[in-house]
Amino acid sequence: MRQTADNISGTASMSAMQTTIQTPITMSGVGVHSGRHAVITLHPAVADTGILFHRVDIEGDDGFVLAHASNAIEAQLCTTIKNHAKTEVRMVEHLMAAFHGLGIDNIIVEIDGPEVPILDGSSAMIVEAINHAGIMATDSPRTYIEIIAPVKVELGNGAWASLSPAPSLQLDIDIDFSDPGIGKQQFAFNSKDDRFQDEIAGARTFCMLKDVEKMRLAGLAKGGSLDNALVYDDGTLLNEGGLRMDNECVKHKALDCLGDLYLLGMPLKGRLTSHMPGHRLSTLLVQAVLADSSCYRIVAHAQAHNVSTPIDAPIALAATA
Ligand SMILES: [Zn+2]
Repeated sequence: MRQTADNISGTASMSAMQTTIQTPITMSGVGVHSGRHAVITLHPAVADTGILFHRVDIEGDDGFVLAHASNAIEAQLCTTIKNHAKTEVRMVEHLMAAFHGLGIDNIIVEIDGPEVPILDGSSAMIVEAINHAGIMATDSPRTYIEIIAPVKVELGNGAWASLSPAPSLQLDIDIDFSDPGIGKQQFAFNSKDDRFQDEIAGARTFCMLKDVEKMRLAGLAKGGSLDNALVYDDGTLLNEGGLRMDNECVKHKALDCLGDLYLLGMPLKGRLTSHMPGHRLSTLLVQAVLADSSCYRIVAHAQAHNVSTPIDAPIALAATA
């Protein structure tokens, strides 16, 4: 028997059972780096699917890319996953943050190109759409990855990140940027407080104007604008409407971390502490965790993800939703 969205509304992230969305969701927009327009459709998926991207412009099984650390590749300024057939999906992190933050275990994301639309630069529109569609529990227990021994990674530039044991998903993040408009910011989050939607989901990505030209020369940020990013110019925020919240930049970093941590393949029980987090650092961290089985355990029963099983299943599930 399936629970209705109302039964788990607001507490899906703490549900004992795996969840999915009740009805499909279609969204579209420009990719911030490619400038290419893309359409995504989120589909309900059966238990143990995980977060599975499906490039509908690529035929057969080669179009499926599981959002998992084992498929994460080093990419500039966004999180990118790639399968054995070299099929890539870029900029998955804001979707992943919404799924992790809302407690959605299973979903298939159809996309007609290589880059997820930036939308408004945050997860707000995705969260709103998911709330509208509804979240429902499946019949299968949720599994967590629980940190049981500390893991730390660092980059040569002073940025570092660590995971340590904690009874819930916790973040403690700080940033220190030279632009005085951003400067030093710190943010702490505990999933038990259920503040994701209010304090993190709407926080937008940010950059400095001096870096925009460099990104464009590198073939990036072709779709970037003041509609999808906070832009600082030597202490001045160029966006007319100003910030949506205090410390919006570090809260966006929290959003990115939530998304990247979901590459562990299941919700995390543990505490992330990080100075100057970024996608490369977060990807290294989740890969370091999964490479050392002595630092984590799977709580409740776990089943291996299988990309070949869910292809037909969502249709049946959607019909019953
Ligand atoms: Zn981001």
